[in-house]
Amino acid sequence: MAQIDPRPTSVDPVNLFGLSRSELSEFLASIGEKSFRAKQLFKWIYQLDELDIDAMTDLSKALRAKLQSVAHISLPDIVLHKIASDGTQKWIMKMADGAMVETVMIPEGDRRTLCVSSQVGCVLDCSFCSTGKQGFQRDLDRSEIIGQMWLAAHALKSQKINGKPITNVVMMGMGEPLLNYGNVISALDIMKDDMGYGVSRRRLTVSTSGVVPMIDQLSNDIDVSLALSLHAPNDELRDELVPLNKKYNLDEVLAACKRYVDKHESVSHRSIVIEYVLLKGVNDQPEHAQQLVTRLKDLRCKINLIPFNPFPHSGYQTPSGIHVRKFQDRLIKAGFTTTVRTTRGDDIDAACGQLVGEVKDKTKRNARWTERIKTQQIDTSE
Ligand code: SAH
Ligand code: SF4
Repeated sequence: MAQIDPRPTSVDPVNLFGLSRSELSEFLASIGEKSFRAKQLFKWIYQLDELDIDAMTDLSKALRAKLQSVAHISLPDIVLHKIASDGTQKWIMKMADGAMVETVMIPEGDRRTLCVSSQVGCVLDCSFCSTGKQGFQRDLDRSEIIGQMWLAAHALKSQKINGKPITNVVMMGMGEPLLNYGNVISALDIMKDDMGYGVSRRRLTVSTSGVVPMIDQLSNDIDVSLALSLHAPNDELRDELVPLNKKYNLDEVLAACKRYVDKHESVSHRSIVIEYVLLKGVNDQPEHAQQLVTRLKDLRCKINLIPFNPFPHSGYQTPSGIHVRKFQDRLIKAGFTTTVRTTRGDDIDAACGQLVGEVKDKTKRNARWTERIKTQQIDTSE
């Protein structure tokens, strides 16, 4: 009979990357070290971009050796980086298990906004979204979320950009951030932390398709800006475009947004952003603008119109520029600050989620070709 080894198995090394400053303090205390060292570690990792524990020279040699035996610092890998002619940059980041997500940086004047992914794919399957069409694989952990920021900031620093490499963050990449709540909050903590990236709360935006209980939770836990992906002014249409509406309908979602605004009103005159993708002939008619005005009259908000970003087999079309302008004018006349999101980075790819789809496709295509070459169905002599 096999003998059972009575010795305890060794504990897995902890990934220090992605721990908040207070968690890092707790970890240091748990290995018998002074918790104030967390500040130093934090500065090395997020401000000096140093990932090699041995190079953190203001930590004693003994502490560095100890950390190397019980911890590690691991991030995703960059597998693709593209820079568009308008300065927009996109990265595809690959996780340790091979999962891939997209991160985009959009420059505008002195502002550099990073669009960060929270999940691999998305379970909510909005009808016009290419991420939704890829299905859901998994949540990103916090090191994978803040890792996107580290890698993008690091790349921008090496491009000798003046000022802060990233001034604004929007959780508008792949996935629904409020369905990966804990990891998103931890990552936002590091983005906000002065010893981390020091991005002010007003410049951090969480975008949601309307997960009502988590909107309330968010307003209790962290003070950041909120964007709601509304996309339709009535339940019938929203049920079709955003299937989550069948669970939390328009009244419920807008009431949660109002609570969010009211909670911080006295301190910050808070308003929220309403995102509205314009789909030709579907939700872009004068009656839709009129219904939107009625629906939003009691909510302190700004409206951001997003002309549909097409992708193959979507079944939707983008309205013309003139049509978009007319829709915008109706909202402005009714008193709403209304902007139109201009398409950026056109020459490096379109809607969020498409780049990953394309890389995956190519990988599959390559695999198919390799298979056919192996089985000698193809003549490779040319
Ligand atoms: N899941 C969150 C955040 C990620 S999606 C949410 O839905 O809010 C970020 C934004 O991109 C959302 O407003 C979403 O509706 C929009 N979007 C998705 N697919 C799009 C497309 N093909 N064209 C234009 N906007 C799109
Ligand atoms: Fe998910 Fe947002 Fe895409 Fe809807 S729009 S499928 S919630 S990522």
